[in-house]
This record gives sequence, C-alpha cells and structure tokens, in this order.
Amino acid sequence: MSVDPSTSATPSDFIRDIVAADLAAGRHTSIVTRFPPEPNGYLHIGHAKSICLNFGIAREQNGRCNLRFDDTNPVKEDVEYVDSITADVRWLIQGWADHCLGVKPRGAKPETRTAADGRTDRLIGPAPVGAKDADCEAFFASDYFDALYEYALTLIRNGDAYVCDLSPKETDEYRGAPDRPGRESPFRNRSVAENLDLFQRMRAGEFPDGARSLRARIDMASPNVWLRDPLLYRIRHVAHHHAGDGWCIYPLYDYAHCLSDYLEGITHSICTLEFVDHRPLYDWILGRLNLPRPLPHQYEFAKLVPSYTLISKRRLLKLVEEGVVSGWDDPRLATLSGLRRRGVPAAALRRFVTSVGVTKYDSVTDIALFEHTVRDELNAASPRRLAVLKPIRVVLTNLAPGESVECRATNNPQAENPTTRPVPLTREVYIESDDFAEVPPPKYFRLKPGGEVRLKYACIIRLDEIIKDAEGRLIELRCTADLSTRAGQPNADRKVKGTIHWVSASHCVDAEVRLYDRLFTVPEPAAEEDFLKVLNARSLEKVSAKLESTLASAQPGECVQFERLGYFTPDAVESRPDRLVFNRTITLKDTWGAAGA
Ligand code: ATP
Ligand code: MG
Repeated sequence: MSVDPSTSATPSDFIRDIVAADLAAGRHTSIVTRFPPEPNGYLHIGHAKSICLNFGIAREQNGRCNLRFDDTNPVKEDVEYVDSITADVRWLIQGWADHCLGVKPRGAKPETRTAADGRTDRLIGPAPVGAKDADCEAFFASDYFDALYEYALTLIRNGDAYVCDLSPKETDEYRGAPDRPGRESPFRNRSVAENLDLFQRMRAGEFPDGARSLRARIDMASPNVWLRDPLLYRIRHVAHHHAGDGWCIYPLYDYAHCLSDYLEGITHSICTLEFVDHRPLYDWILGRLNLPRPLPHQYEFAKLVPSYTLISKRRLLKLVEEGVVSGWDDPRLATLSGLRRRGVPAAALRRFVTSVGVTKYDSVTDIALFEHTVRDELNAASPRRLAVLKPIRVVLTNLAPGESVECRATNNPQAENPTTRPVPLTREVYIESDDFAEVPPPKYFRLKPGGEVRLKYACIIRLDEIIKDAEGRLIELRCTADLSTRAGQPNADRKVKGTIHWVSASHCVDAEVRLYDRLFTVPEPAAEEDFLKVLNARSLEKVSAKLESTLASAQPGECVQFERLGYFTPDAVESRPDRLVFNRTITLKDTWGAAGA
C-alpha cells in the first residue's frame, strides 16, 4: 500500500506519536524540526526520507523545519554542495511543505539576550513570514561559531572541558574500546586558568593542526565510548566556505549539533540510528550549560537503504571521481538531482519514502517498491505520445507522396475526460525495428513477411516487400495500408493479433534516447568488497529515435509516456532544441527479472 503524504493523512509512527504526546502534555506549543545535511556531497534518496519525515511533521503540526547546513568540517565541504542541496530540498518539498521551510535573514547570527530569569540566552529565529527569498538563506552551523566558542569557554570555566595535548593517535589509544576502559589524559586536570589561556591561544592560531584539542571532561571509564572525554574542538588551519578565514579551530559534530539545535529552538532533533550512542553526549553538553529555554531532544530512526543502489556520499563521490558516472546528477544514481534529471516526480519520491514507514530496525528496502511508485505516479499524470526507438522505415505504397490521412491519438486514457490529438498517417512512417522479424519465432504477432498488424490509432497494414541494399542491410519495408480499418470506417472492427506504434516520417523529430538500467548487478553493492566490480555493464544504452513532432517542445521535468515503451523526459543538461535528448525514467513494466539480470 502506498500513501501519498501530499493528499492523504500520513500514518503515525513512533516519532509522530512522541511529537503528538509532547504537544498534548503542553511540553511544546509549536514544533520545530530541522534537516541538517553536511555539505560534503549531493543528497540521495535516503536523505529524502529524512526530509519528508522532518518536513512532514512540521507540516502536520503547523510547525517549521529548518534547513541547516551542518558545516563544521571545512576540509570536505564546498559551496557547490550547499547550492545543490538547497535546490534539491526545494524541489522535493515544492507545493507540499514549502510553507514550513525555515530559513533565516541573510547573514543573521544568533542574538544574545537576557532570559526572563536573568540568565544569558542566545537564539536565532527564522526570517519573518513574507520575507523575500533573495533576503533569506538557510541556517548554517558555522554562523554559530562565536556562540559555540562562548559556550566552550563556559564549559571550561565550569571544569567541564580541558585542553589536551595528546596527538590524535594517542587520543585514540587512550580512549580504549567498548570492552576495555580508557585511560585519563595526563592533561585532564589542568587548571581552569590554564585551559582558558590555551583555548584562547588555540583560537588565536598559535598552534599547528593536531597539536592540541578541547575535550569534554566526562568519564574515561564509561561503557559508552562517546562519553570518554570526547573531542569538542580541533585545530585546522583552513578557510571555511561559509564562515571565511576567521577560524582555525573547528567544533566537532557532537558539540556543534546539539547547540545548533538549541540556538534555533528545535524541539525534536530527528536523526538516524547510528547516533543512538551519541544521545547521552547530546544531553550532557546541553545539560551542563544551564540554558534557560526548554532543551531539544534527539530521536533516532532506521536509515532508508534501497536495494541495487549506493547511498553513502563517500561511495557516490568515488563513482563520480572514477568516472563511472557522468557526475552527481547522472540519472543512474539515486541522488535527488540524478532522480530529478531522470524524470522521477517529487511526489513519487515523497510517496515512496513515506510508504516505507519509520522504524527502529535497519533493513534493505526493495527498489522494486520505488519503481512501482514511480510508475503508478507517472501512469496517472503523463500524457501519451508516439515515439519509435531504433526506427525502420515503412513505405505505405498505396498512399500518395504528400498525402496525409487524419488519425487521432488519445492523450491520456487515465484522464477523467480523455482528449485526443491529430497524428497524420503519411506514405512514409517509422516503426520499431523490434516490431519486425524477417524470420519470426512461433506466435510472433508483429510485422512479418506477408503478415498484418494494426498501426495504433490508424489502420491495418500488410507487409508486401522487404527492400535491402547490396550488402543485405534492411532499407525499408513496403506495405499496403487498409484504410477501411480506420476508426469510423466500415472495417474498423477487423481484428489482427498485433498492434504496434509508429510515427509519420514527415511529422517527426530526431532524438537521442537514453535507456537506463540499474547501476549494480547485486542487491547490496555497499556490502561488496569492491562495488566497482559489480557494476551493470548495460546500465546505459543510447539509441536514436524518431519522436512525434509535439515532443520537440517538451520541457525537462515534464514526463510523457512513449506508448508501449515507458516514461521519458527531456534531459535537463544536454537536450537542446536542435539536438533533443530524452531520458527513460522507467519502463512500463518491471522487466528486470525477465531480462535475467
Ligand atoms: P551518508 O552517510 O549517506 O553520506 P550522512 O548521514 O553523512 O549520509 P548527512 O548530511 O549527515 O549525511 O545527513 C543529513 C540527515 O539525513 C541526517 O539527519 C541523517 O541522519 C539523514 N540521513 C542520511 N542518510 C539517510 C538515510 N539513508 N535514510 C534516512 N535518513 C538519512
Ligand atoms: Mg554525516
């Protein structure tokens, strides 16, 4: 069963239940969630699940979901990723939850204020309703560097953090393992004054990368290794893509994340299961700072991992860098930009990620479920068009050159009131080379010597003659059209076993059509020692095609059904008016099993 979150109620799940209970108990009066990608790659189908969960909850509760870049590690991050992520999120929520998107005034930083009880507080709010898009931007954790630094000074003053001189390697050794307690750093008991001095000098750039770090002072014997004096800051003498070159110390994820949530007034911080063990640290940091407003809480759910795909940014980057694919937006990748370029509607993606539900157990989701959802969505929405791949020419010898017989094709039989359009039948037409067999196998009902087929929306034709060149290559098929079998004509009801599609040679345009298949031959490529060894050699086939001329004006993102072939959309990157390129979004039926992989 699939559920469209844009038109029907989304079934509840344990996180939605918690949100509802918190509202009912008055723990919150409004809900604020966030989607916090690190800008170190493009978003993928797994992120769509997180986006739809966070925005879905905001939408259902009249709340807000902040788009926040978790950009605390400048080494791997880039503005290219910030831009692609922003575009992908907007595309996915467009017309569904865009009214819940939390963005802030461009350049805004957290404001320091005095809370009702006199305590110092810091807060960054969203842009006011009605603010112009051009005046807004996403939230960035790097905009909180000043605030995070101030909080770090507080932790040091309270004896909750210290500057440690162990090297990264020594720090790892001292940390121990889950079954082996850690050892305390020899620098753990430095005085507050010394820690403050060293931390300020770290910030001032006095020490090289890796020479010192700021660590939380928690418990080196904790069974949870994340509580064994975790790193809060490290030294990195690199500029930051958003914050500029003002910093040479950068906060770590666990430290920055909980405080970013707090600064933005997040109520429910939803992430994936690998962060369960980090939750005590999330709560510890917030708990030590004596913060005046209600604290956010973290909840974890299982990642979406579809079969036959790779979804980790690190692995996707490898495919891009090795040239296995043409880029992050290659239509064979399950990145949001790849799926969009391929023609997958945002609504289908939302339906799919919502229909798999929100659970606490890791599992692999059958990609066939995704494909089914895409087909279902496109079937309802796509106009039907005629297109011929790998065309062969057919001459209808009883039609005069220049003669045009008016026929009409149905635009979408799924529509409430299906409309039609003219498709002229002319002396020369194209049919699929796959719809002709000179030596037909048994029960072959398409065009064969002496045989008859119906040209869809037109009439029955009979193959009289096969014309070849001196080398034996097929040049054209000569046929007779029985015009009395057209709609409205006396023999319209005459039956033949095969019906094929066609386009008029004088009313068609040329195009390159790209046929995509799964990129991998195994269901769990990420589990392979080397996923480059399980690539599907037939994941992309480029063929030449003849399209009915109405398709010349189709726009990227507009999906059409090529009758009998599948769903297609113009390629947003390479299609031009003088050189059309279409992508196959998906076949009409699941042929993966039948093709024998
Ligand atoms: P990856 O490991 O795939 O590169 P990530 O978790 O490092 O992804 P982030 O940019 O940190 O990527 O993710 C942003 C948000 O999306 C996080 O809250 C994360 O938990 C969530 N997320 C990432 N992958 C998935 C997935 N496969 N299913 C659901 N949510 C995901
Ligand atoms: Mg990450």
